[in-house]
Amino acid sequence: MRLRPFSVGLTAPLATARGEITEREGILVEVGPDDDGASATGVGEATPLPGWTESRSACESALRGVRDEDGCLVDGALDRLDRETPAARHGLALALADAAARGEGLSLAERLAAERDLPTPAESAPVNATVGDADPETTAAAAARAVDAGFDCLKIKVGARSLDADVERLRAVRDAVGSEVALRADANGAWNPSTAREALDRLAPLDLAYVEQPLPADDLDGAAALRDRRNDPTDASGDPTLPIALDESLSRYGLDALLDADAADVVVLKPMALGGPDRALAAASAARAAGVEPVITTTIDAVVARTAAVHVAAAIPDVAPCGLATAALLDDDLAPDPCPVADGAISVPDGPGLAGDAFDGLL
Ligand SMILES: [Mg+2]
Repeated sequence: MRLRPFSVGLTAPLATARGEITEREGILVEVGPDDDGASATGVGEATPLPGWTESRSACESALRGVRDEDGCLVDGALDRLDRETPAARHGLALALADAAARGEGLSLAERLAAERDLPTPAESAPVNATVGDADPETTAAAAARAVDAGFDCLKIKVGARSLDADVERLRAVRDAVGSEVALRADANGAWNPSTAREALDRLAPLDLAYVEQPLPADDLDGAAALRDRRNDPTDASGDPTLPIALDESLSRYGLDALLDADAADVVVLKPMALGGPDRALAAASAARAAGVEPVITTTIDAVVARTAAVHVAAAIPDVAPCGLATAALLDDDLAPDPCPVADGAISVPDGPGLAGDAFDGLL
């Protein structure tokens, strides 16, 4: 196993649980071939994100810890990367899966799907555009531009302004894009329970697909209560209300707790935070089995992990639009993007593995 630390700049600073970051620092992982040349080479990426995964240094020492003095993987290396270091596990799990898929002549999506007895993966994954916080006119103009570029699902950031202002923004977007475009609102945990309730009531007439993380990550009961009320036929208001998606809460509690609490209609799954493409697809299957829709998103990763997330999304039958159109948030990248966004979707790149030999020679 070979490791190569890297850093790629962000086009704009990103607020995280541990302050603003201006670059994404990670580690490229390469495995194989065996001494006898029997297995193919595989490439993976571990790009920790503060608040979602372990730190950069914990990630690197975890990866170095599963290598012997000859640079070979120790026995059971993947199992030794536990849930405390999901980004490290992602890097190694991806490299091993890429090598295995290439050895078998399969795409990563095909191999992941076969492992879980899922049908043949789709050739592309639908993606949403993200529209940031701005005044109503600017927000509506950005939404219209995204639709012109081919997106038919938009995620609008809310919660930075008053609810009045956000309702006005979303109304301006709906007016600008018409009724055919799916709209999501992501509050990133900004609201308290009464504002969240009011938001769901006032946004319902705008026919949003869902409201993401209306309450802080740790308020799982609150999220369940918002859904309860919606499902409560005795609720006197008679107002239609909206599905709830959870993102930050998943990182805080894990999928099982979310499903047990009946707290979400949709879960946002980040392969880097979940510990690998295999774990992300397993989580998606578990969510579906519980009647909860999975959405795959990146953690604003470099091209290797982003491409892996496209394979995961494509392996989920009829997946809802995913948050994978994040390449534009990076200033530079590790390699040319083998699967750029086109017409609101990302095609799974030509294989085998992650992207054939597109990422060979990066280390
Ligand atoms: Mg989110």
